[in-house]
Amino acid sequence: MMGGGFHGWGNDASAVKGKRLEVAVLRRAWGFARPFRAWITGFLTAIVLSALLALVPPLLFRSIIDTALPEGERGLVTVLAALTVLAALADAGLAVVQRWCSSRVGEGLIYRLRVTLFDKVQRMPIAFSTRTQTGALISRLNNDVVGAQNAVTGTLGQVLSNGVVLVTTLVAMLVLEWRLTVVSLVVLPLFVVPAKRVGRRVQALFRQQMTLNAQMNTQMTERFNVAGAQLVKLYGRHPEELSAFDARAAGVAAAGVKVAMYSRVFFVAMGVVAAVGAAATYGFGGHLVIGGELSTGDLVAMAALVTRIYAPLMQLTNARIDLMTAVVSFERVFEVLDAPVSVTDRPGAVELVAPRGRVVFDRVSFRYPAPSEVSIASLESPGSSALGTTPGDPVLHDVDLAVEPGTVVALVGPSGAGKSTIASLVPRLYDASSGAVRVDGVDVRDLTQASLRASIGVVPQDPHLFHESIAANLRYARPEATQAELEAACRAARIHDVIAGLPEGYDTVVGERGYRLSGGEKQRVAIARMLLKDPAIVVLDEATSHLDAENEAAVQAALEEALQGRTALVIAHRLSTIRDADLICVVDAGRIVERGTHDELLAAGGLYADLYRTLSGSTSTVGAGEG
Ligand code: ATP
Repeated sequence: MMGGGFHGWGNDASAVKGKRLEVAVLRRAWGFARPFRAWITGFLTAIVLSALLALVPPLLFRSIIDTALPEGERGLVTVLAALTVLAALADAGLAVVQRWCSSRVGEGLIYRLRVTLFDKVQRMPIAFSTRTQTGALISRLNNDVVGAQNAVTGTLGQVLSNGVVLVTTLVAMLVLEWRLTVVSLVVLPLFVVPAKRVGRRVQALFRQQMTLNAQMNTQMTERFNVAGAQLVKLYGRHPEELSAFDARAAGVAAAGVKVAMYSRVFFVAMGVVAAVGAAATYGFGGHLVIGGELSTGDLVAMAALVTRIYAPLMQLTNARIDLMTAVVSFERVFEVLDAPVSVTDRPGAVELVAPRGRVVFDRVSFRYPAPSEVSIASLESPGSSALGTTPGDPVLHDVDLAVEPGTVVALVGPSGAGKSTIASLVPRLYDASSGAVRVDGVDVRDLTQASLRASIGVVPQDPHLFHESIAANLRYARPEATQAELEAACRAARIHDVIAGLPEGYDTVVGERGYRLSGGEKQRVAIARMLLKDPAIVVLDEATSHLDAENEAAVQAALEEALQGRTALVIAHRLSTIRDADLICVVDAGRIVERGTHDELLAAGGLYADLYRTLSGSTSTVGAGEG
């Protein structure tokens, strides 16, 4: 029915095909709905009452015809007619109550699921973020929670309502005249079987639309951001992008037309069934009335009742698949909630208090975790249903290193040597595969993540600034910082004058869509942000881009101030940083192959001497990213 390419992304029909309602999933779903049980009870009660109330008018009409009319009782006619109006009013009231309850349940459930998911995603290890498609993840928080909500307020309500209407109406009909009831049901199989097929087909088409919509979303989020848009332009891929988008949009449109037609045929068929049913009732019932076996009132009541059974019957034929679909949304939400969190606080983890900032790597080896340890297949790519279970090759081997408090250690080496990986183990972006990283003598895995990270300031190569004012970006490190403190940090980071010179000063909005700071300026803002945090340990990845002389001097001055009195692990690319470091470690293929001061290493004539020669001969960076 659907192309293989759609598997695993949307709730395609195959996701529910041959599936059983899993009790565990239902129980867990109920766990989320439980706080709303009073509202759910109100909702379901209103549905049942409304279904029962609907039986009243036909029975009142019957009394009017059979009792009041023959005896000419005007008063009774009026009373019965008035009661019909009352029933209609009561039904209207119930409809409002029902909607009130269902919106309380529905919105409450969406809220709970969203907040729970957001919290979970925030606690996921960084490896999860590096692997997951942001668009797919956002879709879980936007669409699937709505689907899950729909399971409770939509599908559950519908099944119950249809069930109650069907049973009560059939009972009433059987009591009134069983033969007529049987006749009215005879036409049903003619329609129920096709209805089932049409229902499935419409569902499949809906899924197809959802999948294509999700793909369009991903394409748009990836291509509309600055970096993506630039890539599209520079490679002249506009026509290809358009045709890919066009194909998906056309798919959505085509599926939309089919859905419209199938749905209309379904409803037209239902109308025909109802008409045939009514005709059969009057046709067969008319003979019974003439033969004196049935009263006119019974006939009218039966004809009114019979039209009420077909729609619920047809809808119930698809109830199973509806329920399954609804449950799939819950499953997709639970899938994220169940994703493994590989970096967690150990029970009894201790706080790192007033750290001195001694950082030690003790025989640390590391390999990047297997996808299955950190990620979810359906969030990685639309097509994948399983993740690799083999971890990467070892990236670090027996790294031993001690960074004494207040000293600067420079990591240098060729691209891909493992410098960034070493640095990422200190704030526990990843955990060592064997050996240990210790801060002040305590294994970082025995410290609380909050206190560990509070004592480490990381300045990456290309720091991220949120789409907010510079002041707000700086205060991300310390929300309570005063304007004077912001300015002091920025002066120390040699960026105050630049900011002060902007039209809106510290209120200038930066980030992807805001004012574009240059690479060097951005890094100095990040240094200022780090200074506001005032950590004992600094992990710094120097920009590899060549700065102009002015920027170079500013960054140099900023760093000198920033690293003053802190323990620093610097992935160094600039000669001045390297020469001034207390210790230089040369990293190659995941090992520290040389260590010493600039002079010692130069004298040794090893890899460092080579790197240095290349560097001082050409540029001002060592072991730059491009290798
Ligand atoms: P550069 O100077 O170019 O930034 P580096 O010395 O910092 O390089 P790392 O980024 O630490 O090197 O990479 C070391 C090795 O680990 C490389 O072979 C890289 O391909 C691999 N690697 C890095 N990040 C990941 C990841 N998230 N998953 C799997 N492998 C990774």
